[in-house]
Amino acid sequence: MPIPLQEVRTTCPYCGVGCGVKATPLGDGGALIEGDADHVASRGRLCVKGSALGETLGLDGRLLHPAVRCDGAMARASWDEALDTVADGFRRIIAEHGPDAVALYVSGQILTEDYYVANKFMKGYVGSANIDTNSRLCMSSAVAGHKRAFGEDVVPGCYEDFELAEAIVLVGSNAAWCHPTLFQRIVKAKEARPELQIVVLDPRRTATCELADLHLPLKPGSDVRLFNGLLAYLARGGAVDHDFVAAHTHGLEAALEVAGVDGEVDGEVDDVARDCGVDPAQLRAFYELFARTEKVVTAFSMGVNQSSSGTDKVNAIINCHLLTGRIGRPGMGPFSLTGQPNAMGGREVGGLANMLAAHLDLDNASHREAVRSFWGAPRIADKPGLKAVDLFRAVEAGKVKAVWIMATNPVVSMPDADQVRRALAACELVVVSDVVANTDVGVYAHVALPALAWGEKDGTVTNSERCISRQRAFLPAPGEARADWQALCEVARRMGFAGFDYDGAHAIFDEHARLSTWKNGEEGYRRAFRLDPLVGIERAAYDALEPIQWPLRSPTDGTARLFGDGRFSHPDGKARFIATTPRGPVHAPGGEFPLVLNTGRMRDQWHTMTRTGKSPRLAGHAAEPFVDLHPHDALLAGVREGELARVSSQWGAMVARVAHGGGIARGAVFVPIHWNGQTASDARVGALVNPEVDPVSGEPEFKHTPVRVEPF
Ligand code: SF4
Repeated sequence: MPIPLQEVRTTCPYCGVGCGVKATPLGDGGALIEGDADHVASRGRLCVKGSALGETLGLDGRLLHPAVRCDGAMARASWDEALDTVADGFRRIIAEHGPDAVALYVSGQILTEDYYVANKFMKGYVGSANIDTNSRLCMSSAVAGHKRAFGEDVVPGCYEDFELAEAIVLVGSNAAWCHPTLFQRIVKAKEARPELQIVVLDPRRTATCELADLHLPLKPGSDVRLFNGLLAYLARGGAVDHDFVAAHTHGLEAALEVAGVDGEVDGEVDDVARDCGVDPAQLRAFYELFARTEKVVTAFSMGVNQSSSGTDKVNAIINCHLLTGRIGRPGMGPFSLTGQPNAMGGREVGGLANMLAAHLDLDNASHREAVRSFWGAPRIADKPGLKAVDLFRAVEAGKVKAVWIMATNPVVSMPDADQVRRALAACELVVVSDVVANTDVGVYAHVALPALAWGEKDGTVTNSERCISRQRAFLPAPGEARADWQALCEVARRMGFAGFDYDGAHAIFDEHARLSTWKNGEEGYRRAFRLDPLVGIERAAYDALEPIQWPLRSPTDGTARLFGDGRFSHPDGKARFIATTPRGPVHAPGGEFPLVLNTGRMRDQWHTMTRTGKSPRLAGHAAEPFVDLHPHDALLAGVREGELARVSSQWGAMVARVAHGGGIARGAVFVPIHWNGQTASDARVGALVNPEVDPVSGEPEFKHTPVRVEPF
């Protein structure tokens, strides 16, 4: 495709807010970056990371040519040689050990079109659902919670609801740093209407708390207890929308039973406050605010999802909105803040090991047959594949013998990350598609495939409010880099698979849109995810596609809110209350490991810093890894601010400089996620993180690992 030397409208590649970007190439490989005032998700805003995108476009460190391991060392190869090696390896391993002996591990960084082809390749043609994604580490608890409550993975509201709300509850979300331009909208709304109440539920006093009218520093892992307490409070206090509950829901009785509605109201709040480690008067104030406020948005993010009870936390929140009927109408509803730029697009195409494409169900035989037949595939996966943690365990156990890793670095980002190192070291065939030449995962590659980066690739992403938005190329492909979907199609063709002849990203999107229209009338099954008006989209229309929220009413008219009519996606049209029994984190602190490690992002960095690390301006915020702990705990540990300390868990260790950020409670430790194993001291916090997962979603417990801190 010719690259225009003129302004191109595209989408930021970082967080799930999905801000619109105007990029003007400067002819020297760089580009002028501005916010896109016409983009519905951001209205011209960019945060510091988005604003610095122009500083991150250089080709230093890029993987520009395919390479194949030969006599122990990686050697430059042609695309044909590299693709043949991948196809031959996959074909041989499948023939000898079956389709479940191979796997794909992809990323919320890849585009919907790449995701679609990867999912079709594995589930339809290889015949295994062993395709999982780093989105498993990010929002799979939200997906599972949505499926249980609504019958479909749907975020009911939109960003405008934050501006229309009378109260915003942020649970486990440091939106000020992790979803900055959405947070700016909240700040503006609060400036315009000071009566807008902001409540933050977070064990840590984060930057987000500076805007809060009320901060509840709840005990890590006590969220279900707190929201069950709210459900009981609402039920007793007359805040129930009886008509809505009777007409549109099931399961309230069981949910109320586990919430414990039989005690006295005041006593119950005191009990909940004690269990959650918060001040009873403050908890009562929050409950009362929620009870008397019609327009409440409860937004949740990684502090909720990344937990061994993450799915129950999501449902405990949704239960409170169903009880009050506050969903699908302006200014109210539960709202999942997605971490990555295209975690939602990956969900739409079934990019998780337990999903099928187009929001269809892997455990539904008629859905499986519909997708198989639509793809013209010889087979279809008939059971869920391995979720991320189990996938790398299966690699280490020799059950999965080939893994193709795309746009992610699991040696840094997975929990128990040293286990991933062991697994990849033992794996017969490791294929790595990446834009970066030297990564922690690349060390284990047998084949390295150069991928297109942001600014070079072309496709769509979907943000947290269901808005499909184009990422457009404005730079030429460097070296021999290709789109991930092209590499997948080439391997598929070499393996003898039909159905992988696309003449551009628009053709993949068209197929994706067509699959979304499948309907089984007999079941009365109603999926919200539908792209009917975009079926048959041609290249020019695809190139010009404006941001639009699904489901679509027309090619230019989307849907801001869902479920306002009380009709949900379960076959009977009713939402489900889920009885959520509080469960503490799996590993309690004590003995050798008395502190609780919590991990998260920094304001100015993204993931493993392969892009943001190129900007000196961004590096100025935090130049090196640190371990933030309370001064009293530092004293007990014998470490001082500014000194190096070793942080250890039963899974691994890292070294970082001691800091006192000021917002951390006694007994807690915070370490950012961004640094990798290429620093002198190996600063991968993932090596410490416990690999316990939520039994429903498979999402790991990144927010709660017992550790000790000691002098280095
Ligand atoms: Fe990019 Fe998120 Fe910042 Fe928007 S808020 S500019 S999407 S990082």
